[in-house]
Amino acid sequence: MAVDQASTIKSFNPATGELLGEAPCLNADAVQAAVDKAWSAFEQWQLLDYSKRRKLILALHKVLRKHADEIAKLVSQEVGKPLFESYTGELTGSLDACIWFAENTEKALKDQIIGMTNPLLASKQSIITFEPMGVVGIISPWNYPFAIPMMAIIMSVMVGNTVVLKPSEKCPLIGIKIEELFAEAGFPEGVVTVITGDRTTGQHLCQTSLAKLLFTGSAEGGSKVMAQAAKTLTPVGLELGGKDAAIILPDAPVEWTAKGLVWGAFTNCGQACASIERVYIVKSKNTDKLISYMMSLTEELKLGDGLAPGTDIGPVIDEGQLAKIEKQVNEARNMGATVVCGGKRRNDLSGHFYEPTILTGVDHSMDVMTQETFGPVLPVMVVDTEDEAIELANDSEYGLSASIWTKNLTNAEDIARDLEVGTVFINDGLFSFTCPQLPWGGLKKSGFGRTHSYFGLLDLVNIKHITIDSAGGANRLWWYPYGKSRIEVAKAGADLLHGSVPNKVKGLINFVVNSIWRSKE
Ligand code: NAD
Repeated sequence: MAVDQASTIKSFNPATGELLGEAPCLNADAVQAAVDKAWSAFEQWQLLDYSKRRKLILALHKVLRKHADEIAKLVSQEVGKPLFESYTGELTGSLDACIWFAENTEKALKDQIIGMTNPLLASKQSIITFEPMGVVGIISPWNYPFAIPMMAIIMSVMVGNTVVLKPSEKCPLIGIKIEELFAEAGFPEGVVTVITGDRTTGQHLCQTSLAKLLFTGSAEGGSKVMAQAAKTLTPVGLELGGKDAAIILPDAPVEWTAKGLVWGAFTNCGQACASIERVYIVKSKNTDKLISYMMSLTEELKLGDGLAPGTDIGPVIDEGQLAKIEKQVNEARNMGATVVCGGKRRNDLSGHFYEPTILTGVDHSMDVMTQETFGPVLPVMVVDTEDEAIELANDSEYGLSASIWTKNLTNAEDIARDLEVGTVFINDGLFSFTCPQLPWGGLKKSGFGRTHSYFGLLDLVNIKHITIDSAGGANRLWWYPYGKSRIEVAKAGADLLHGSVPNKVKGLINFVVNSIWRSKE
């Protein structure tokens, strides 16, 4: 890491308040130096065969396996999530990404040959080729502090780009670890550089000469980053927040659906972009049973330090986030919502803990149903019809993911097509973010562009078109001189190619006559 620094940032364990370490808060000069280094490394890196890059990614896979326990522990310490989730939500996706992108990137991005359908262009052939772009800047959040940047870096370097990563100021130690892991795997210096710092450091990164900027974070941050990147016309990919809805149909099995909803809402303490943040139950004889089963499951969840065995829910990341959650829940309560369980912070625990909370009697006049909560809060609304549930699910500024819970899969698929989101889960939630072969991204205020999968790779390359004409020496119909008859030739050509059968015959005659006449002009 470049060491020219303005100040330092401190990293605390949100479960205990313990100071874990410090990292430099890099200034504009240090950020520029890191980007310059990445451009220098790009000169050679872009020229490497896929086989060499693949070898390094597989070496990285080995390094991740070797340090898995250390990484999982660091993640749980720095952002507080239960150790189980550090393995499942952070390491698994990164390991799978090494294998999937090592095996599939070259195949996915091999040259495509395109033939022409217009006979006037028959001598031409087109090649579509996919080229590395240059230096990709990645600005990442704290809630999946390892998997989000790792998967984006693995994709970027596999296609031949180099990377400068700015991790969240709430987890700089994980960022530093990421740079160390790539170095240990044998990546040349400058291919992956980590710059620690706060949002000012992020702003500096936006103002350098990047080929592409991938931002994952809040909608507010994304909007600022896009404006900053506009000054240099740097293309951006934005993965932003969500207010993800779950639609429960009357035939959904009660106990199993309750388990899925409780997990989908409270995993990572609800601090996941695709957490279930609102539930619409289509009224049935099972409705009360479902809510009461959700309540009993929620009351059994164990809050605590992510490293303590048996912890189901860790702390909220910091006091600011805790205050935001508290405000939304209190406002909803004051507006008539019922707190079914939870509903308060836990001052008896040392860190920033909030009880997993279920609310009923909510509606869309309340922030808890429209604004991202990003905490362990699950508001539940009972509606009369499936159509009402779909309409309410779409009544959101966000469009990241949604889920449908039912036994009728055909109907669920129909509903899925009506939902304004990037991903629809039928009978599950969230999991696909960690699957490298599946696209991830949102609509509306949840962002644009896609990461992971073939589509994510396309967002990281220049798509170059090379067109070759084998008829060297022959004049082209559309070259000068136009002459008097050329308009007739053009009209005849359109008739010939696109007209009805009589028009085609007329077009053919006019085309030949005018072409010959033209050649005599
Ligand atoms: P945030 O927007 O506060 O910060 C994200 C990152 O951006 C941090 O590294 C921060 O330092 C940097 N940053 C913030 N403002 C910046 C600016 N003006 N210029 C440059 N850099 C800037 O978000 P957060 O609190 O770290 O993360 C939580 C948010 O991220 C939630 O809204 C969550 O839904 C979203 N998120 C989305 C996805 C997704 O895939 N769609 C995944 C994870 C998190």
